[in-house]
Amino acid sequence: MIETYNVPHALVHLFPSELVNELQIDMSFRGKQIFKWISIGAQSFHDMTDLPASLRQSLAERFPSLYTSTVANTFIDKQDGSAKLQIKLYDGTLIESVLLVDTQGRKTACLSTQAGCGMHCAFCKTGTLGFLRNLESYEIIEQYYHLMNNFGKPNNIVFMGMGEPLLNLPNVIKAISIFTAHDGLQISKRKITISTCGIVPGILELAEQHIDVRLAVSLTVADDTIRSQLMPINQTWNLYTLKQALLTYQEKTGERITLELPMLSGINTTPECAYKLVAWIKGLQVQVNLIAWNHVDELPYKTPSSKELTDFITILKQHNINVVQRAKRGRGINGACGQLGRIKQE
Ligand code: SF4
Repeated sequence: MIETYNVPHALVHLFPSELVNELQIDMSFRGKQIFKWISIGAQSFHDMTDLPASLRQSLAERFPSLYTSTVANTFIDKQDGSAKLQIKLYDGTLIESVLLVDTQGRKTACLSTQAGCGMHCAFCKTGTLGFLRNLESYEIIEQYYHLMNNFGKPNNIVFMGMGEPLLNLPNVIKAISIFTAHDGLQISKRKITISTCGIVPGILELAEQHIDVRLAVSLTVADDTIRSQLMPINQTWNLYTLKQALLTYQEKTGERITLELPMLSGINTTPECAYKLVAWIKGLQVQVNLIAWNHVDELPYKTPSSKELTDFITILKQHNINVVQRAKRGRGINGACGQLGRIKQE
């Protein structure tokens, strides 16, 4: 039997004037009040104490929850304080969102933009799931609120969870507009990063639309043969095409780009790969982030040794490339980069 679901009445993606229309209330200033309450984590109209009691009551009856999704499971990494939420969407789909906590206590919300992912990067757990569906803007925003309500307000947002954000760009852009809204969460665009596996039209659209958030590209390796094996997207947009898009992006935005390299022992860690990366980067303003591959049981890769990483970093530094080795966070809960996806359909 095919299950059917009513499309829920979502609220968190609406601006004050849209809230007034959706809720069918007369006074426009109420929209701002409700918008503000949602942005500080109210979960019910009953929490909105500056609304008249009768209005609170009637809205709460019509909308028992402000969210369309619920937290199904919470996992906390005791070693580093990172946390992962498994979130159940209105249709029963499960997604995951992560809160990464750095050594200074800064919190980064790692949000999913799709359920599953169709990009099939060989080193990524999410890629083994295949694509289930795009998330609606409210489903992206609600992940932030679930993290905030459980662990406090995150300082940064990265669209680096499940899915390829540039293949769900309208919903990602809408979520960004809510995250940065002046009367709401007021998160600076400088604290928001979109991470892509290299969707060239999406990169060009970001530049064209002046979205002005930070851009990260999961480059992995600057060798077309190896990259095509690890990241099938390279067969559509190869390294040359990707670089041209990034040059255009930088010309239009003047922004530095982050290149993410999940490091797979013996595959993209060799000196030859380092020199190819040096050559490919020429002309781009980048920071290179190396991420020692996070183990996933069913995948055939190995985490590199410290020496492999150090030797790679030394070559990049010799060529004045800005390189950072990202700290390991969230591994204890399978919440680190590339580990999301212990998902099941109910
Ligand atoms: S790395 Fe990102 S784009 Fe690639 S399969 Fe995983 S979630 Fe999808």
